[in-house]
Amino acid sequence: MTYLDNAATTQVCSAALEAFERAAEETFGNPSSLHSAGFAAERTVDEARKTLASVLGGAPDELVFTPGGTFSDNLAVLGGARRNCRIGKHIVTTRIEHDAVLNAAAALEKEGFEVTRVAPGPDGRVRAEDVLSAVRSDTVLVSVMLANNELGTVQPVAEIAGELKRRKSRALLHTDAVQAFCKIPFSVKTLGADLVAVSGHKVHAPKGVGALWVRKGVKLSPITFGGGQEKGLAPGTEPVPLIAAFGAAVAARDKSGRAVKLKEYALSLLERIDGLKVISRGDTGVCMVSLPGFRSETLLHRLSAEQIYVSSGSACGRGKPSHVLKALELEAKTLDGALRISFSAYNTEEDAVRLASALERAAGELAHA
Ligand code: PLP
Repeated sequence: MTYLDNAATTQVCSAALEAFERAAEETFGNPSSLHSAGFAAERTVDEARKTLASVLGGAPDELVFTPGGTFSDNLAVLGGARRNCRIGKHIVTTRIEHDAVLNAAAALEKEGFEVTRVAPGPDGRVRAEDVLSAVRSDTVLVSVMLANNELGTVQPVAEIAGELKRRKSRALLHTDAVQAFCKIPFSVKTLGADLVAVSGHKVHAPKGVGALWVRKGVKLSPITFGGGQEKGLAPGTEPVPLIAAFGAAVAARDKSGRAVKLKEYALSLLERIDGLKVISRGDTGVCMVSLPGFRSETLLHRLSAEQIYVSSGSACGRGKPSHVLKALELEAKTLDGALRISFSAYNTEEDAVRLASALERAAGELAHA
């Protein structure tokens, strides 16, 4: 199998699997229990918390484990805006965010918030000045993703953070770093955001676990209610094996930028295909190309028949036209033939070669069909 859909999800790595198993077998207690089995489970969670915090560049007590990237984004957007609604009811975000942010913002609109959605440039990047000029005195939250899941483009979060600070804005800055964490180097210190969302299954941990880094002093309203776990922000008994696996996957992350290099190599091969257009080269292991005149679903199925797995855009869109590609205002033909190709450190050069030759063959056969 040639798996090139790592922006949708990743294969669980062996370190994560081992940590999951160990925690499930050995530290299966409830971290809230006041006995040794509970303390052991709590220690397992704390170890993972330390690992994630150190890779993010923050303190362990700033990290809240959540059920995934969607929960983390929802908690940041809903929890941040609602907590600060006395200051104002205006939110700034972008047209290329994940639905976890866009739909949370849309839910806030129904509660009386006003949302400004900034458009990207044709290169798939929003301009810091466009975001900043949308910020008003009643803006309570700015949400700009760090790396886009369809285009692989990195957004100017640090620049936005710097200017918000200079202006002494009271708006919280949230960044969805689900597609950036363990993929491009960054630290919450230099980034300057207040809230940073990450997800386990994009970094070779199992599905169902994520985290939100909450800068010390930043207050959020809870969005779910239960016991006091995770400072009351993600209540519910902690999924200790999933958290342990997340920590282990992050500790075992590739630091060599292999996915990015493989993507560059793949692009160099793909660009030789007649008519192929590069929509976005991306800054992460993700890129978007198009074969105008062909339907991406048809190409996808052809590749899938050869056990080569790519995506026609965000996997969450399930065939719906991608709002991200729409925001780029591409020609209909280019949009229809778009393919997202996303690498992980577990891919090989051979995967890139297989993809390029299969795509070239598919395009040739379909053109003569
Ligand atoms: N944000 C981005 C940029 C994503 O790519 C995804 C997953 O596709 C999410 C958020 C949601 O993360 P999860 O699947 O862990 O809920």
